[in-house]
Amino acid sequence: MKRCLSCDACYASSITNCPSCGFSPELVDGFCAYAPEFAHSGGGFKASYFSELARLEEANFWFRSRNQLILWALEKYCRDFSSYLEIGCGTGYVLSGISKLFPRSTIHGSEIFTGGLGFAVARLPSINFMQMDARKIPFAEEFDVIGAFDVLEHIEEDSRVLAQVHQALKPQGFMLLTVPQHMWLWSPIDEYAYHARRYGASDLHQKIETAGFQIVRSTSFVTTLLPAMFISRFFQKKVSDQKFDASAELKISPWLNSLFLQLLRAELLFIKKGFNFPVGGSRLVVARKI
Ligand SMILES: [Zn+2]
Repeated sequence: MKRCLSCDACYASSITNCPSCGFSPELVDGFCAYAPEFAHSGGGFKASYFSELARLEEANFWFRSRNQLILWALEKYCRDFSSYLEIGCGTGYVLSGISKLFPRSTIHGSEIFTGGLGFAVARLPSINFMQMDARKIPFAEEFDVIGAFDVLEHIEEDSRVLAQVHQALKPQGFMLLTVPQHMWLWSPIDEYAYHARRYGASDLHQKIETAGFQIVRSTSFVTTLLPAMFISRFFQKKVSDQKFDASAELKISPWLNSLFLQLLRAELLFIKKGFNFPVGGSRLVVARKI
């Protein structure tokens, strides 16, 4: 069902305008926009920026490994889902993997900034894209699975987002999250990326359970790269006043990229066997609506 952001009425998701109050979402850059006031806040990135980002994502060990982990978790825990919503889908890199693996599911992608959506829709024309604010999700009991990958740490009101995800999921629906972990890894990179926090497991679990979820699986990942992350972030602190290159982390040497890919592939083997890493640069949580 859709949930009206103006009067809270619920109605069939095929209907565009609220039958109770007449509210209709605006159209911004060709997308249905539920929070148009934020649509352009992400800055006016050029299309060339997104094609560059997409090219780097496809080769980069981090994006590739995270996709492998997400796709495995979806198959393992949420196999028969028919509807999926991603919050903060960016240029659609995760969605491209999901749509390939689950071609029979109805897949929706959402972003608060329309900048990357034009690129995402060109790459994935069969997916339904919309502009929305995760703090005000215009759906109730609509989706079998909702994913938010490295999104929650950007939002001050993370508990509110979790409550909105809970509301938008069907009963027994699944939420998949990845978040950056450990405040002791906090560095200028987090500030440049507009992170509100890095998470600790107990804080994250408590917020998820308070929102009405049961945790099905939770593990750290990027554990084997912790020493490299720690050293690189230590040195970043020393050069924090220098000009920051946002894409520098994506441009690593091919042999290091390949080594990191192998290490994270090995971690995934352990995770598949049921081992939960206690520490790591990031955390994956699979939770079920109760
Ligand atoms: Zn209404």
